[in-house]
Amino acid sequence: MQGGSRVHRSRNEHTTAVTCMIHGRGYWSGQAVTVTVHPAPMGTGICMVRTDLDSRPQCVANVSHREDASLRTNLVCGDARFQMVEHLMAALAALEIDNAIVEIDREELPSLDGSSLAFVEQLSRAGLVIQARPKQRLIVHDRYRVGSSSGWVEAMPSKHGETYYEYQLSYDDETPIAPQAFGIELTPDRFIREIAPARTFVTAEQAEQIRATGLASHVTNQDLLVIDETGPIENSFRFANECARHKTLDMIGDLALTGVEIVGRFTSFRGGHNLNGRMAAQLHKLAIEQASRQSQQMADAKSQNTRRAKLTNTGIERRDAA
Ligand SMILES: [Zn+2]
Repeated sequence: MQGGSRVHRSRNEHTTAVTCMIHGRGYWSGQAVTVTVHPAPMGTGICMVRTDLDSRPQCVANVSHREDASLRTNLVCGDARFQMVEHLMAALAALEIDNAIVEIDREELPSLDGSSLAFVEQLSRAGLVIQARPKQRLIVHDRYRVGSSSGWVEAMPSKHGETYYEYQLSYDDETPIAPQAFGIELTPDRFIREIAPARTFVTAEQAEQIRATGLASHVTNQDLLVIDETGPIENSFRFANECARHKTLDMIGDLALTGVEIVGRFTSFRGGHNLNGRMAAQLHKLAIEQASRQSQQMADAKSQNTRRAKLTNTGIERRDAA
């Protein structure tokens, strides 16, 4: 853990103060793409729009629209697909931007340098506006785990109301990536400094396999970390444990598809997008149950008040009649 404990107090929803834009190319498609993030009214969520398609299809970033894909997280609404959303979602969630219209003029989001750095730079510059509605929070009260002994993601209650992420990386003996770990109590500032710069990585062998399929042919060794026994090829690490930090970034982005602010301790052992997606689905289910319990409690309280008001009225009528 780094720094002191930060209790996550309930807060109101946020949107950006102004519109901002991020340009780049998709890793897989190589297509040039512009992401435009506009402020949005409270209750909107992160609403993605494909402006390159005639019907301008929309998709609220939520685990129910998640598509299982290799090495990335996609969203699908009807015929519209939004590829590789996790690095933008991590930046939005960590900077506490809850409501935004995100216009994209291609299917795949820009890869940039493989990190969330360009997203946090533009979003930080756009500024935050506090909105008049409390942000829905899910406080984890029990232990939940998805996966198996060879790879899992776990959610646990936090002791002091903090939100803590940890990634434990331990690949097979043949991999050139050393075992490493990273843990952080998340705040917007810590995300910007400690996580956002951590880049996507592949082994040299994985890079060969991907290039052999004809995908990502434009991607150079400077566009992400390609790692062999000697370290990153034609590149250098920004942090000694940059790989574990990037896996933490992915976990934050994938769990953001829960759609609520999550408070708890989230640990992954060798997990990837698939396990993150399964944990997001679990947390989303808990958030829906919590919301329906809360609305039931509100309905009960309202009907009790109505009954009390009726009894009081009856009392008045009786006194009047007496
Ligand atoms: Zn990633």
